[in-house]
Amino acid sequence: MVRVHYAKGLLELFEKAPALQNRIEYTLWFFPEIEDIRFGRAARSAYYDSGSGTVRLTRGSSVYVIGHEITHYLQDGRHFNGKTLPEGERQCDLFLFARSPALVFDVWEGRDSSYLGKALNLGLLKELYSKEEGQMMVYEACREAVAMYKERPCHYIRWAEKRINENIMQRLRHRYS
Ligand SMILES: [Zn+2]
Repeated sequence: MVRVHYAKGLLELFEKAPALQNRIEYTLWFFPEIEDIRFGRAARSAYYDSGSGTVRLTRGSSVYVIGHEITHYLQDGRHFNGKTLPEGERQCDLFLFARSPALVFDVWEGRDSSYLGKALNLGLLKELYSKEEGQMMVYEACREAVAMYKERPCHYIRWAEKRINENIMQRLRHRYS
């Protein structure tokens, strides 16, 4: 069972925004390797506080944002006791998306923008895919990239971005052929 510590400021926020606690608990379900973790409140936007090893969130933090900041904790060998993940923002998103389609950024109903997404054609992704299809497609590309990376060092991030964009362009061609 995971030990979750919520700072006082965040517990106070839960009283006004109970859905945030639900989103945190839902997101944690996808991280079975975590034994204990600390959450606090962020003043403006969510971030991972590497000084104290705390995931700091705001009232509106989405499942993607929560998952992204939790993944930064897994990159931090000073606080996380398990096997750490490669550092970096794009690495963070790629390893997050490879866990589940449910953790892929939501450009459909939500307002997420991902570090990985900067290289992607998000307008077309949104237009040509439903949310479920799009999240599944991104998840599969990232899962494949993580498997490649585990086998040997490679340009797995660029590979995943290229793969996702190729899928989008292929779907575009199908639509107009
Ligand atoms: Zn980040």
